Amino acid sequence: MSTAEPSVFSRIIAREIPAEVLFESDSVIALRDIAPQAPVHLLVVPKTEQYRNVSELAAGDPTLLAEVVATAQKLADVHCGGEYRLVFNTGESAGQTVFHVHAHVLGGGLEEGSLGD
Ligand code: 5GP
Repeated sequence: MSTAEPSVFSRIIAREIPAEVLFESDSVIALRDIAPQAPVHLLVVPKTEQYRNVSELAAGDPTLLAEVVATAQKLADVHCGGEYRLVFNTGESAGQTVFHVHAHVLGGGLEEGSLGD
């Protein structure tokens, strides 16, 4: 574990800061993004802060990564008809701002070709 301050997501998990939590299990939490980039914009976050990005998570705990993906599907089933874009920003130049791995679940009328804006 790092000695850094807890991430914003760890603080949400600890209920130190408020969030609209949509689902929680022993190992993941799902919440609505505070600054939505799509009509539906949800986050699925492993509770452990041990993995900074999806690459580290895939190497270190593929079962947990599979739970993140399964949770994304369940959320999309409820919130956007089961269809969604799953995004893991990886690195600052790719737009990552929180270095506690999380999946963005984006849905609700996304346009083809809107991936890179
Ligand atoms: P990243 O840029 O690291 O891929 O994604 C971080 C995401 O976390 C952003 O979409 C940002 O809007 C969201 N976020 C940051 N702080 C908070 C917060 O306090 N509450 C919620 N619900 N989302 C947050």
